[in-house]
Amino acid sequence: MNRPRLAIAGLTACSGCQLMLLNCEGELPEIVERFEIVHFPMGESGSDPLDRYDVAIVEGAVSTPKDHQTLFRLRNASRTLIALGTCALFGGVAAMNNGTWDRGEALREVYGEGAGEIDSFRPAALGSFVTVDFAVTGCPPEKSEILELLSALLAGTLPPLPSYPVCLECRSRENLCLLLERDDLCLGPVTRGGCNARCPATGIACEGCRGPVEEANVAQELELLLERRFSKEEIVRRMSRFKAEWDYGQRR
Ligand code: SF4
Ligand code: SF4
Repeated sequence: MNRPRLAIAGLTACSGCQLMLLNCEGELPEIVERFEIVHFPMGESGSDPLDRYDVAIVEGAVSTPKDHQTLFRLRNASRTLIALGTCALFGGVAAMNNGTWDRGEALREVYGEGAGEIDSFRPAALGSFVTVDFAVTGCPPEKSEILELLSALLAGTLPPLPSYPVCLECRSRENLCLLLERDDLCLGPVTRGGCNARCPATGIACEGCRGPVEEANVAQELELLLERRFSKEEIVRRMSRFKAEWDYGQRR
């Protein structure tokens, strides 16, 4: 049987999602045996960026002309394109100030006066530019999710995405509810599960790093947090850390 030809690439990101794949140390020999990894600049040298692939797995937001070019090339060269991680799916941390900061001001703040020469634009998710066939969310995704994805690809399919919020996993672990019982700014109710409530299980409120769950009841979350005397500004600032835009005006 032909091994699926795989490309793994990163755009504007911290490379943590690709690193999570490399951290699958026990499974890497089998991954390399089962897939033909044709293009993986972070993991190997000498790969051919002009090849054709069965699957391209892409990490990061699109924020430079080079990102844009790489994404289009990968999309054109691949049968299936997969967004890996919250930046690729929602813009993530790179996009957190998209709605509030002027781009030039943000660049000057970070890079000083040389900022004028930096060729970049407001970071955006892959889906703003190309068709994305599947996404694994998380900052970074769980190792088990990456392995499930690779197994499913070998079987010619795609794995199911968790369609429930972090709260479901949190309550099933019988954690103290940090929102209701400790009045913390916990984003578990509106965040996609799959991490087994990693943070609340250790007493740390969910920051929403996996992005919104389907049909997230943002209005209810907003009301609960306002009742606990968090300002709207603070709530919006926290919610936009991993996904810049939410619909705060929605109702059930
Ligand atoms: S602590 Fe957070 S994630 Fe856990 S049940 Fe409460 S609101 Fe949900
Ligand atoms: S609990 Fe929230 S912040 Fe922590 S890993 Fe899960 S989704 Fe991310």
